[in-house]
Amino acid sequence: MTEVSVTKDATPPAGDALVALSRVNKHFGALHVLQDIDLTIARGEVVVVIGPSGSGKSTLCRTINRLETVDSGDITIDGKPLPQEGKELARLRADVGMVFQSFNLFAHKTVLENVTLGQVKVRKADKKAAEDKARALLDRVGVAAQADKYPAQLSGGQQQRVAIARALAMDPKVMLFDEPTSALDPEMINEVLEVMQQLARDGMTMVVVTHEMGFARSAANRVVFMADGRIVEEAVPDQFFSNPRSDRAKDFLSKIL
Ligand code: ADP
Ligand code: MG
Repeated sequence: MTEVSVTKDATPPAGDALVALSRVNKHFGALHVLQDIDLTIARGEVVVVIGPSGSGKSTLCRTINRLETVDSGDITIDGKPLPQEGKELARLRADVGMVFQSFNLFAHKTVLENVTLGQVKVRKADKKAAEDKARALLDRVGVAAQADKYPAQLSGGQQQRVAIARALAMDPKVMLFDEPTSALDPEMINEVLEVMQQLARDGMTMVVVTHEMGFARSAANRVVFMADGRIVEEAVPDQFFSNPRSDRAKDFLSKIL
């Protein structure tokens, strides 16, 4: 685990911001789902987002790769505002890899095809090179032997590891994980968390929404606690778990730990 210096609010150095949200607001009808969100994620940083159900964690992730638009505020990746449409948007989605609770693999493509397709279509990679890279990534996440199978023939843990490989194949600048282990049988959770741990150690910039507090403690540089559409508290994991400041966080932790 990388040691980070403990600053008062655990804010990373502004100069190295890879993802920056500034005063971001979003409504779903009358529901103010994101309220004045300010969040800066440094290159190489691992941020774990936790909070009660309905607090806006998924919406926050989805705004970062523009699966959701925002009503106001600014979001930049590597200093550039999010593109609105077309090829630029496709490239953004490749730059910002996303792994969902529900795997979302292409059911009618093999594992190898799942990890090859985006490289060819979006990154314009040569097919052979894309396949070689896909096989190397499948090996890295421990599912090389499944390359020619279809997703339904794999366990949930294997499918999720393929989903991670598929996102990595695009050489993302940042990876977003939205409760990647919540749909898994308990015995498969660790095999996915271990892949994520390794990714964190390798220096990937990651935003991880999870209820796996062990992962948060060991992999996160910073924990962001959300409630009712707001960032209520952020701190390094040790500080957050041993000494949460807000009543909302204390209440949340008392229920899950
Ligand atoms: P979390 O991931 O923290 O559980 P979400 O971001 O999924 O929270 O949702 C936050 C709130 O926004 C919830 O009340 C949810 O019902 C609502 N919400 C999410 N997506 C939509 C949508 N597409 N339309 C309307 N309401 C939504
Ligand atoms: Mg969610």
